[in-house]
Amino acid sequence: MIRLVLKAGRDASVRRRHPWLFSGAVARREGDGGDAWAEVVSADGERLAAGAYSPESQIVARLWVFGEASVSPGQFGERFDSARKMRAAILPPETTGFRAINSEGDRCPGVTLDVYGATGVLELSAGGVEASGSLFEREALRAFELEKVIVRRTGAERVGSAPGASGPPPDGPHSRVPFRENGLRFFADLASGQKTGFFLDQRENRSRLRSLAAGRRVLNLFSYSGGFSVAALAGGASRAVDVDASEAALDLAGEHRRANGFDSGSDDFVRADVFEDLRRRVAAGESWDAVVCDPPAFAKKRADVDRAARGYKDINRLAMRLIAPGGLLLTCSCSGAVDATLFQQIVFAAEIESGSEFSLFARQGAGPDHPVSIDCPEGEYLKGMWMMRTEGGRR
Ligand code: SAH
Repeated sequence: MIRLVLKAGRDASVRRRHPWLFSGAVARREGDGGDAWAEVVSADGERLAAGAYSPESQIVARLWVFGEASVSPGQFGERFDSARKMRAAILPPETTGFRAINSEGDRCPGVTLDVYGATGVLELSAGGVEASGSLFEREALRAFELEKVIVRRTGAERVGSAPGASGPPPDGPHSRVPFRENGLRFFADLASGQKTGFFLDQRENRSRLRSLAAGRRVLNLFSYSGGFSVAALAGGASRAVDVDASEAALDLAGEHRRANGFDSGSDDFVRADVFEDLRRRVAAGESWDAVVCDPPAFAKKRADVDRAARGYKDINRLAMRLIAPGGLLLTCSCSGAVDATLFQQIVFAAEIESGSEFSLFARQGAGPDHPVSIDCPEGEYLKGMWMMRTEGGRR
């Protein structure tokens, strides 16, 4: 095992049980081996924690246990079982696609598992957990009663199967794995999709849109595979238009509509840059009853925050200009570096510039299958704000 000796006075966050150990706090590394498990000791030799070691990463260890405890395979099983019980308690009916293990939020730092029907996608993103990959794979198959687990380490990918099971490889036509969400049919695009193939974190927002969509014309910006549009149509929307830069995403969006029995025409799928598309729609004087704006993370790190803020303000101002009185806006940010307070400031500033008046009526981040550890509040990244344009308005 590697031994990470902290600099004097740099032990506070570990003692508070924060699971991320930054390389700047480490005075020396003892022992050899690359990606593995490491123990953490204070400058005067006190054992403080142990966790998954990533020698090249800024987060040099993701801590699994604190004090004298050591990391053991039995813990992996216990933590997976605890996560499974939570999912059983909080998932809605007719839902077979969910985040089963949410890294720090399930006390499994560096491990995520998304389940789509009987298939799991296991992502291992820290050295030590990669080294123990086959143990996690076995626990995923067992705890969530899966037939197949696809393991993703930094880039490489392979398929592991339950004893006796033989699944198709994760490329080719079988890379689309069917699952259900609140009774609706979707496919996770495991081979070439974003995330692990679907944006499971937006389930609660899709569900709210479904409940509000009756009779509305919905514009779905940054649509990816069109999950929001399917939910809106299921809720009685009169029309839904997906806008995305990716042809493959729009193709899958068409398949999702067909799988749920909704007709669509080619003008329901617009391949475009959303910034340009919005300007064109505003210039044409378009009017919509609901707009969903769920872009990719504009800020991946602190240094990007200013530029990201301008981007969020632009798209929100333009989107608001398209919304008819009584119309809805769901606007989201999944940038961890833009916190909820800043995102709200940006959206409110956009509202003032838009010239229309909106009220905020709900907030919704990632669904309950994305729990956040109170020791690691950084795990909360998705902000969603629901707003309605008022009928009259002050301007
Ligand atoms: N709202 C989606 C997830 C969005 S992911 C859902 O609920 O499933 C971000 C999407 O934005 C990706 O599909 C990506 O292709 C698209 N995208 C990124 N930048 C874009 C741009 N400037 N214009 C249009 N689409 C963009």
